[in-house]
Amino acid sequence: MAFLEPRHHELAGRVRAFADGALAPLEFEEERVDELARRLLAMLGEAKITAYAVAAAYGGALEKLDARSICVIRETLAYRMGLADFMFAMQGLGSFPIYLAGSEAQKREWLPRVARGEAVAAFALTEPEAGSDAGALSCRARRVGQEWVIDGRKRFISNATIFDVMTLFARTGEGSRGVSAFVVPRGTPGVRVEVQQTICPHPLGEVIFEEARLPADALLGEEGMGFRLALATLDVFRATVGAAAPGMAQRAQDEAIRHVKSRQQFGGPLADLQGVQFMLADNEAELQAARLLVHRAAWLKDSGAERITQEAALAKMVATENAQRVIDRALQLHGGLGVIKGTPVERLYREIRALRIYEGATEVQKAVIARGLLAAR
Ligand SMILES: Cc1cc2nc3c(=O)[nH]c(=O)nc-3n(C[C@H](O)[C@H](O)[C@H](O)COP(=O)(O)OP(=O)(O)OC[C@H]3O[C@@H](n4cnc5c(N)ncnc54)[C@H](O)[C@@H]3O)c2cc1C
Repeated sequence: MAFLEPRHHELAGRVRAFADGALAPLEFEEERVDELARRLLAMLGEAKITAYAVAAAYGGALEKLDARSICVIRETLAYRMGLADFMFAMQGLGSFPIYLAGSEAQKREWLPRVARGEAVAAFALTEPEAGSDAGALSCRARRVGQEWVIDGRKRFISNATIFDVMTLFARTGEGSRGVSAFVVPRGTPGVRVEVQQTICPHPLGEVIFEEARLPADALLGEEGMGFRLALATLDVFRATVGAAAPGMAQRAQDEAIRHVKSRQQFGGPLADLQGVQFMLADNEAELQAARLLVHRAAWLKDSGAERITQEAALAKMVATENAQRVIDRALQLHGGLGVIKGTPVERLYREIRALRIYEGATEVQKAVIARGLLAAR
């Protein structure tokens, strides 16, 4: 069975042409990552790629969000540059709760700008004391007259340093039904950001709310539905994290094949050694298996499945773990060159690491998969 349709292959070709033409000449200056991120987003907007992160009624490309389109875009961009994939994906992750539960005014204000790549989106769930256990969040929103007053701290928030619109999850009551979602625009009084640096730079930071004030209509949907909104959003985007991973892994595999065919040792190319060939074969098996699981999860979603929690967890876990191994083998095949700063495999080795942690660490995916298995029998 083919999980992708001809239109997905056509889309992949279009994004590949964009990536080869527009992204290839860009210099990745790690110390100017915020500037590069904004520039990438503008380019993705102009090429109408960010439009696939939003539904057509609000300026997007397709009538409704298509998980397979998001997957092929992510894989194709990640092959060329992880940061480009990341900027595309965050537009979807940050704006999907607005699409799901926002008022018509909220949708019209933000979604068309997100679709055009003019407004940078962010998604703020994680806190210092609420990571894997996101339901333990303690950032609080109090209703005072016509305003919401927010106090608390969010950690590891992608795009924190450059966001224009942030979906914030904060506590308005007790338990998982006591979490509400809010739309926070850049420049909200009482919001400050502290930069966090990672092994592979991208815009990331802590967002601190000190008596931050939002208007009453900043609430997304109804009070208490925030946690369900966060889970429904992650349900879609978790599978697509799995799509970025084979993009990075395929690039590593291609780099490894190129290298072992040209590098001469023991009187011939490394590619003549069976031990080397076996590493390439292992890479290929892990890559193709991962891609199939990712496409299957996305296809299920596009076929109308309300929740794909199990399939998304499987796809995300296998794809990111496999990609880490593929990239590690590719680096090994480069020998010393693999750890020299600036080579593609060195960058990929740093780039892939966070994918096994964010949107649910591998161990959390295992817990989800096991829970589903035990409940079903
Ligand atoms: C680069 C990056 C970008 C991110 N972007 C965002 C963002 O935009 N928005 C946002 O809200 N969050 C974001 N995050 C946060 C991310 O989702 C969390 O880091 C992740 O959920 C893990 O939480 P934690 O780091 O607090 O780890 P912890 O919860 O402290 O867990 C640490 C480790 O313990 C193990 N563990 C945890 N729970 C279990 C379990 N149930 N069973 C077995 N082992 C377990 C796992 O190995 C896990 O890695 C980002 C993180 C990173 C690294």
